[in-house]
Amino acid sequence: MTDFKKKVAIVTGGAQGIGGGIARQMASVGIKVLVADIDIDLADNTASEINSKGGDAFSVKTDVTSYSEVKEMINVAQNRWGRVDYFINNAYSAGSATIGGVTEVSESQWDMDMRALVTSVYAGSKYVIPVMTDGGGGSIVNISSVHGILVSKKALTYETGKAAIIAMTRQMAVDYGKFGIRVNSISPGHIVTERLGKRWENNPSGLKFFEDQYPVRRTGLPEDIGNAAVFLCSDEASFITGHNLVVDGGLSIQLQEDLAVQQGHYIKENPDTEMPYKK
Ligand code: NAP
Repeated sequence: MTDFKKKVAIVTGGAQGIGGGIARQMASVGIKVLVADIDIDLADNTASEINSKGGDAFSVKTDVTSYSEVKEMINVAQNRWGRVDYFINNAYSAGSATIGGVTEVSESQWDMDMRALVTSVYAGSKYVIPVMTDGGGGSIVNISSVHGILVSKKALTYETGKAAIIAMTRQMAVDYGKFGIRVNSISPGHIVTERLGKRWENNPSGLKFFEDQYPVRRTGLPEDIGNAAVFLCSDEASFITGHNLVVDGGLSIQLQEDLAVQQGHYIKENPDTEMPYKK
């Protein structure tokens, strides 16, 4: 099994949600973790919680849309632990992408969303790869989404950004494999984070409706993605690169017409269900 004890990871957006789940799961196997987040108070809390359980974590305020802050984040990890083995491009706030199709999204919204979703992954990878190369290799995990492989309506910038992350993952895997660097992405299904959990408190029947659409009959938790990230970084995954690991309880393997029939039956049997989203 992989000896994680000397390994160092940076998790962007690591203060909460999926990033928090990844930071905690990585720390639980002995990886040293830099929790990088735009919300420094929350990042401090997450790092302190990990340290209180015997882990080794540190926090840094980083806005991944700023090249200078991304470079500084990598310096902080290097200065503290002397290396970076794993890099998780995760930061993005759930639900902050512009709603709209191509004729509705403004030029400035397009630029802003592409910077947050795509340029941030380019920036983090660009500056961490030389550090990994000097250290003899490493593993990058980019957090995409089921929205990177399937499309929902009026979500132009999110779907485009998440699909671009899968393409960038393959490109980087091909270009840097020879330096011992593996690059993979994860496409999570619906993950009930702290933030989304609060939203669902107001609509438990909507969450139940969502859960019923998953073959495993549950939505995901941040640690589900944390476990997948630890695996992709481990030596046990040393022959896996350029892969998009879908972690969605089977949501996206279903035939759509069959799923629609299943949903129809569910609504008939549970007529008081409040839909998760407005039409
Ligand atoms: P979350 O709960 O909102 O947590 C994201 C964290 O990242 C927050 O602490 C947020 O700070 C921080 N952040 C936002 N913008 C940042 C920036 N520019 N620089 C540094 N930190 C930043 O989000 P999540 O649901 O865990 O999502 C994490 C990733 O998983 C995203 O890439 C998302 O697209 C992807 N994903 C999520 C789901 C899901 O169902 N939750 C499913 C598929 C994929 P603030 O709170 O201050 O903004």
